Amino acid sequence: MRALVYAGPAVLKVDEVAEPVAGEDGVVVSVDLTGLGGSEVLALRNPGARKLPLIMGHGVVGRTPEGTRVAVNPLSGCGDCAQCTAGLAQRCAGWRMLGVHYDGGLAERVAVARRALVPIPDALAWEQAVFIEPFANAVRAWERSGATSADAVGVIGAGGLGLGCVAAARQAGARRIECVEPSDERAAAAAGLGATGRDTGQAGRYDVVFDTVGSAATRALAVELTRPGGHIVLLGFADTVPGFDPVAFIRAEHRLTGSFVFDDAQFRAAIDLAGRTDPAWVRVVGLDTAVAALEDFSRGDHSIVKAAVRPARA
Ligand SMILES: [Zn+2]
Repeated sequence: MRALVYAGPAVLKVDEVAEPVAGEDGVVVSVDLTGLGGSEVLALRNPGARKLPLIMGHGVVGRTPEGTRVAVNPLSGCGDCAQCTAGLAQRCAGWRMLGVHYDGGLAERVAVARRALVPIPDALAWEQAVFIEPFANAVRAWERSGATSADAVGVIGAGGLGLGCVAAARQAGARRIECVEPSDERAAAAAGLGATGRDTGQAGRYDVVFDTVGSAATRALAVELTRPGGHIVLLGFADTVPGFDPVAFIRAEHRLTGSFVFDDAQFRAAIDLAGRTDPAWVRVVGLDTAVAALEDFSRGDHSIVKAAVRPARA
């Protein structure tokens, strides 16, 4: 089959690879779409835990051999430790992510565990389903924020994660939801999901701020935009340095929460939120054009709300 292979430092190439083989409790899913996003761009700069060669791609939707339409929950743990027992596989010492620790969905087919399959409704377009994985991160971040309808919410970045935060805040009835987003196309998508406006830059404007970018600059901005006593939730990890002034943070008595991926219930909850997206927001590319799409994104072209790869040949 054909796959987009992360072959070596900063090298992505389309290649003919061996068919994936399902494990004992596994299944081979025919990929319809796999989301492409910030994590793939960051991974090309720094492979981190990834052992190359690797097929990336963790936001996968497709069909089982029986023809069932599914989204794949990409996270798993050892299944036995206290964290896994509590449903928190991301805190397991042996956590594993599809497309990071083993071959993912930037290929015509992918082998996954049967328990990772979550059926999706026929009414949900593939171009909407591709938002399930990023939105699941946002469902968790919203829950961890403890925010309520009484809160004014700031969201930094309106890619998949940020749009999910907007959708989660809207579902909870937050009174004001504003985005920090330079791209007019992404800001329009945020408005479509219930954002009430764009950030004005006024310090201390929000009770809760979600930073879905995670650069040093956006973390500093998150601290600045949060009112004294307010709450900052960090999801993005573009930079490894904190970026904000701890003294200002202490004096403002801010609270800081990290949020990483999702549990099974949060992944399922994201299906409903993904149904609120517009399929036209997704730019679908083939394996051959995926590298160009990643390069556009890497250069800072965020006019595409969400890119996704359709690996099957037309
Ligand atoms: Zn475990």
